[in-house]
Amino acid sequence: MTNSVKADAPSPVRLHLDGEALLSNYKALSKASGAATTGAAVKANGYGVGAREVVSRLSKAGCRDFFVAHWSEAVAIADVVPADQISVLNGVGEADMPLALSLGARPMLNSPTQVVRWKQAGGGRCHVMIDSGINRLGIGPEQLGEDLLDGLDIDVLASHLASADEDVAQNGEQLEAFRQAAAGVSGERLSFANSAGIMLGRDYHFDLTRPGLSLYGGIARPEMTSIIKQVVFPQAQVLQIRKMPAGSPIGYNATYRCEAAKRVATVSLGYADGYLRGFSNSGTVEFQETAMPVIGRVSMDLVTLDADNAENLREGDWITIDYNLREASQISGLSPYELLTGLNSRFDRFWI
Ligand SMILES: *Cc1c(COP(=O)(O)O)cnc(C)c1O
Repeated sequence: MTNSVKADAPSPVRLHLDGEALLSNYKALSKASGAATTGAAVKANGYGVGAREVVSRLSKAGCRDFFVAHWSEAVAIADVVPADQISVLNGVGEADMPLALSLGARPMLNSPTQVVRWKQAGGGRCHVMIDSGINRLGIGPEQLGEDLLDGLDIDVLASHLASADEDVAQNGEQLEAFRQAAAGVSGERLSFANSAGIMLGRDYHFDLTRPGLSLYGGIARPEMTSIIKQVVFPQAQVLQIRKMPAGSPIGYNATYRCEAAKRVATVSLGYADGYLRGFSNSGTVEFQETAMPVIGRVSMDLVTLDADNAENLREGDWITIDYNLREASQISGLSPYELLTGLNSRFDRFWI
């Protein structure tokens, strides 16, 4: 219903999504994962890119393990791939049980309570998350006890790195803790590395890797710079162009003032779309190879641009936001994860 309404009202913001770059990134991460199988984290609507389309495309490329956070996210892709290829990272709460049992997606059991719940319900094949030192979500090695996991039919025994994007001792410590914990558990496959973890080398690969960010163009570690391509190109439509006299203040709280007379373009894009205020007076956009700086504060539905150099720019034209994740991250102070997952349902999504 919402979709058909939206089709009648084309959005003034859209994402151009590069399908070849997505596939290229998946292949590069598979190669970097060596002998391990490569899965895909598609939680949060495929990091904002669009989970259904991402899953469909990666499935055709041979991916068989898809990780979501919520059960609603599993439902959203359950007609795209077989349910047993979907893992629910946040595990299974009491209220999730009816759906979990009927859907057939596999919970990542994260606590002794979840383990007992799953066993008592006769839940079948599952995954288990061991906390090897991120101390966030997962069963602590000290909680494993003699028989906690007995009777479970475990596919993936996983753990998650806290600082794989840095060269710190914690990585090796977690690796050792995971190895020790895994030695006493009968899981079919072991899984440890996220995007950054893949680049830490063979010891970190085990049987299955779980990249997310780098599939979508995030450079999780410097070694990836040459192998990962930008996937997401946000675009927005120009609403108004106006010549402002010298001295004009621009936008809320007048954080920018025109030193000289200036052509100012106002674009249908704002923090309610996911273009956050960190880009105020610092972001840039492109129109026909001409860069235009964001001037003034990003507001809810609008940004203002210095359009002096874009003489051809007209109302109704589409501009492309500079969204190289590393540069945009430095400019805005947002992480690449936030930059992607913030792009919300206001955007129409087009694969090119
Ligand atoms: C999100 C997530 C991933 C993917 O991490 P990236 O840093 O995006 O590659 C892998 N494993 C778990 C448990 C996650 O929560």
